[in-house]
Amino acid sequence: MKITPIPCLTDNYAYMLENTNEKKIGVVDPSEAQPIINYLERKKLKLNYILNTHHHFDHVGGNSELKKLYNAKVVGFIGDKHRIPNIDITLENNEKWNFGKLKVKILHIPGHTSGHICFFFEKDKVAFTGDTLFSLGCGKIFEGTHGQMLTSLKKIKNLPKETKIYCGHEYTYKNAKFCMKYDTSNINLKKYFKKVKELRSKNLPTVPTNLEDELKLNIFLRCDQIELQTNLNMENQEDFKVFRKVRDLKDQF
Ligand code: ZN
Ligand code: FE
Repeated sequence: MKITPIPCLTDNYAYMLENTNEKKIGVVDPSEAQPIINYLERKKLKLNYILNTHHHFDHVGGNSELKKLYNAKVVGFIGDKHRIPNIDITLENNEKWNFGKLKVKILHIPGHTSGHICFFFEKDKVAFTGDTLFSLGCGKIFEGTHGQMLTSLKKIKNLPKETKIYCGHEYTYKNAKFCMKYDTSNINLKKYFKKVKELRSKNLPTVPTNLEDELKLNIFLRCDQIELQTNLNMENQEDFKVFRKVRDLKDQF
């Protein structure tokens, strides 16, 4: 499957999905319709599916126009059927949905919103994590608890290490600065920051990242690790307390 990030609004990404063998075309989280239309017209493609990770306007803003133009089907979480505009196909936690013959596992990952999901493409090992897991960061907790968000992040952590992570926003540069402030002894992080700086100076996306790197670099995935706990003066405290502390620090950053 071919995946192309499409920058939308100020810092959002929509993702074009091309299942070329079966001529199935999808888009994940179209904040707005026009950049998607431009891509489809340039490539002379029609759109079959619109996949939404959650109901926020910067993820569903293009739904109705794209649906009208291409008769595409809108796919989203069953619990959010009342607030994902134009939804057609409702999915449940752990359900497998077929994008052509490609199997997509749905993970319900509440915290940012109560109905947030991750689309995991099993064969390609690709996860669309919306506003739950960012590269080097995690989403704000709007509708859930810290405990829920941490459980959701653990679900993503349990995916195969080589999973490519496609997230909803280009926040990596600022996230890296935050991680470096509190994860001072992480050498890998300093190296990675150079790469991020270079990409962003050319206005190139830092996505996709992969789970293996995130596990080493993303402070929100390291709350159970002693080095980080020591830096925060929280040795041997429960991971959800450490996570709450880190999330609060990020909110003030
Ligand atoms: Zn959001
Ligand atoms: Fe968002």
